[in-house]
Amino acid sequence: MSNRRSFWGWGTEVSGPTEEQSVAIAKTIAQRFGVDDLELRPPPRITDVELRAARLTPPDSLAARCASDPLERAGHTYGKSYRDVVRGARGEFENPPDVVAFPESEDEVAALLDWAGDAGAAAIPYGGGSSVVGGVEADVGDTYTGAICIDLSRLDAVLEIDRASRAARIQAGIFGPALETALRPLGLTLRHFPQSFEFSTLGGWIATRSGGHYATLHTHIDDFVESMRVVTPTGVVESRRLPGSGAGPSPDRLFLGSEGILGIITEAWMRLQDRPTFRASASVRFAAASGSDDDAFARGARAVRVLAQSGLFPANCRLLDPLEAATSGAGNGDDAVLVLGFESADHPLDTKMARALELCRDAGGIAPDGTVATRTDTAPARDEAARAWRNAFLRAPYARDVLARAAVISETFESAVTWDRFESFHADVMQATRDAVKRICGAGSVTCRFTHVYPDGAAPYFTVLAPSRHGSELSQWAEIKSAASEVLLAHGGTITHHHAVGRDHRPWYDRQRPDVFARALGAAKAELDPRWVMNPGVLIPN
Ligand SMILES: Cc1cc2nc3c(=O)[nH]c(=O)nc-3n(C[C@H](O)[C@H](O)[C@H](O)COP(=O)(O)OP(=O)(O)OC[C@H]3O[C@@H](n4cnc5c(N)ncnc54)[C@H](O)[C@@H]3O)c2cc1C
Repeated sequence: MSNRRSFWGWGTEVSGPTEEQSVAIAKTIAQRFGVDDLELRPPPRITDVELRAARLTPPDSLAARCASDPLERAGHTYGKSYRDVVRGARGEFENPPDVVAFPESEDEVAALLDWAGDAGAAAIPYGGGSSVVGGVEADVGDTYTGAICIDLSRLDAVLEIDRASRAARIQAGIFGPALETALRPLGLTLRHFPQSFEFSTLGGWIATRSGGHYATLHTHIDDFVESMRVVTPTGVVESRRLPGSGAGPSPDRLFLGSEGILGIITEAWMRLQDRPTFRASASVRFAAASGSDDDAFARGARAVRVLAQSGLFPANCRLLDPLEAATSGAGNGDDAVLVLGFESADHPLDTKMARALELCRDAGGIAPDGTVATRTDTAPARDEAARAWRNAFLRAPYARDVLARAAVISETFESAVTWDRFESFHADVMQATRDAVKRICGAGSVTCRFTHVYPDGAAPYFTVLAPSRHGSELSQWAEIKSAASEVLLAHGGTITHHHAVGRDHRPWYDRQRPDVFARALGAAKAELDPRWVMNPGVLIPN
């Protein structure tokens, strides 16, 4: 066991729970659903994995940057969706890349794309591999001679810092912790913290329009991008550094969310912030008038709408439904809990927090006096509910690996919808998903929280947990995911607020996206990628 990345699950080989802890997690879940002890299958061993023979041989000029050994190929076969982790845990690696390349310069990225085009192979950009939508899987069909995974992790430097404009030029393959470590001595931060922060990269965030931890204002990475460089099979595209511009459609917008189908983002100038020093945190409970969990959540949602429209812009505004709050230790299971936080590098937050709590109380929330935790240094201020919730949040991806080994379906899906439709949207998505879970698995739970809120709507995030059987879990997962996705779309929501489209969300994205726009995107791809090598099957058809 070493500190290298797990080839099938979250984190590194040593960062997950011990075998004893894994057994305890499986037991807790079995008790929760009233099923007999779950069978926890052993984790896979790389020596037992059989991979299709590699079909490509790199040219001599790139050979030193390329690997074809089983550990690299298996480790780059999947992202980290539930389906990916289950297949990895079973030792099934059906579509491994033939070669994994680790370019160390932009020229090498361009040379790899040339090689892919000449060889008739697919080129799959790979950041941290934390995609949950099949975004990095080499499932490209047999019209390609093979697949080259282009891992950007060696392009990982902060190249330049412009203190006056508070921006930095950063290479795309840098992981979240290294990026923050480089900025910290200067008192700066990108302040973009997706749950996958530790094992995802700047380029991946930009390519998927990732959503950070903060609930309002700069929710997606988009707003932090000042300019970027993209190596496409046709040539390099570099946008101009500007604080704002009205000069036609923005080139950056073409590549934000392009999920590797147009080219490889190699670096970007990113807008930074001063590290917050003032923080305040509190939690507010919302009891159910009718005794139902959904009613408690709906009451909390009404308060959140008022907050989102108040101009206070809390950094954290996470409404947890009663079961979600209880599962994370943030609540008692009867009430919805709103975890509220403010941050600033400039001013104390007492007035803002006091006003936010006043608004919550007016909307029926219970926020006893004296519950506010404040700090004036860089360590976060967290009240008990916030601390419990955050710990559970960070442990969740590791626990999911255990659930995959125990045949427990563990799926999260998210959306966004305007406030006028929110209540019926939430009620119908919950009902349809619960019905699907009951029909398909017999037992299980569906919970909801807000990840991001806007003056005109909210981004609800749903978690499904359901006991299954070894061998049936992926077909049951697919049925539940499909039922949930249908209802999201039917009620006017988006198929994803921040998890991207990849291959897995394509059936719904294809219906959500205007047809003329789909053709325009295809035409842009044909121009930038005339041999259609870039991540085929993602976002638009092959
Ligand atoms: C446990 C867990 C928690 C998560 N939490 C969040 C969250 O809070 N917020 C959120 O938004 N997402 C979240 N995700 C999803 C995922 O982390 C994001 O989509 C993330 O942005 C992917 O970054 P990555 O570096 O891992 O990219 P990868 O998974 O390696 O790639 C994602 C996509 O981007 C493309 N790509 C990667 N790098 C480049 C590049 N340099 N140029 C061009 N294309 C590129 C790939 O081809 C692929 O299509 C989570 C995933 C997991 C497993």
